[in-house]
Amino acid sequence: MRFPISLSLDLARYFMKKRWQGEERFPLVLMLEPTHQCNLSCAGCGRIQEYRDTLGQSLTLEECLDSVTECGAPIVTLTGGEPLIYPPIFELVEELLHRHKHIILCSNAILLEKSLDRLPVTPRLTLSVHLDGLAPLHERILGRPGLFHTAIKAIKEAKARGFRVCTNTTIYKESDTREIEILFSYLAKIGVDGLLVSPAYSFAAVDAEMFLSREEIQDKFTRLTGNGMKFRFSNTPLYLSFLRGERQYECTPWANPTRNTRGWRAPCYQILDGHYPTFQELMELTPWERYGVGRDPRCDQCMMHSGFEPTAVRQAGHRPKDLWQLLRWNLS
Ligand code: SF4
Repeated sequence: MRFPISLSLDLARYFMKKRWQGEERFPLVLMLEPTHQCNLSCAGCGRIQEYRDTLGQSLTLEECLDSVTECGAPIVTLTGGEPLIYPPIFELVEELLHRHKHIILCSNAILLEKSLDRLPVTPRLTLSVHLDGLAPLHERILGRPGLFHTAIKAIKEAKARGFRVCTNTTIYKESDTREIEILFSYLAKIGVDGLLVSPAYSFAAVDAEMFLSREEIQDKFTRLTGNGMKFRFSNTPLYLSFLRGERQYECTPWANPTRNTRGWRAPCYQILDGHYPTFQELMELTPWERYGVGRDPRCDQCMMHSGFEPTAVRQAGHRPKDLWQLLRWNLS
């Protein structure tokens, strides 16, 4: 199976509960950023610019856990910044597991190998390693030599110890699809459990030359994923077909809410128009109808995983053909 059975069952139960309660807008994945501090300064990172004034701040463990309760999403992605430099990261993981959450722990892998002793091996924890290409491209984007080797070494060690390991690859204008295919083949060979891909988003504060237009995204992802799905992607086939331009979706920005030291980020992981002090205020006060392709120029080139993958999953519940495709994909 592509995902652990416990995750599939928990998600199915969660969807049924929300439908039964008649909730139209509800979160699927909490993007928790306990700190924006990082041991890197990547070229495509918007957080460094957007949170320049608060980079040194962190959420307390208690604030993290309160946010998890407030939000209620069954999946928590720990991101940032680099989560492994957040001092209580191991306590946070432990507390989330006690709360029966599914955790995706994102990392640039610099501290991953030496953190493995303090992380539990469980299907509820997935390590997600950032890898944007083979060594030259990956290290140019991350701004430091040697990091490709560091990431591969950490992945091999994590797999040897029985961890569930995925990779997270952002596709930029300069990404060569042939190179990405070689990378994915290699990652499959060393036992990576899933490959998450997403086109980069053109953060206002970052060099726009790095990012792809919608047409360029469709072209690159047709070359990368329109090959009979030979790679083990963590993205659903529905979202990948959206990236190839074969189907249209509207985004559901509330499905992946982001919490950081300034509060609940509105409206989404990409655009920053403000922060709310509580999750309830985020959901109730954000003018959701103003966002999305054709409504806000900042959305026009966006095909981001965090905005559109939840739409694909939610809509599959109403389309038997899509639901069947999702089931078969998850069992493969
Ligand atoms: S289209 Fe993208 S940037 Fe715009 S609101 Fe949706 S997820 Fe955010």
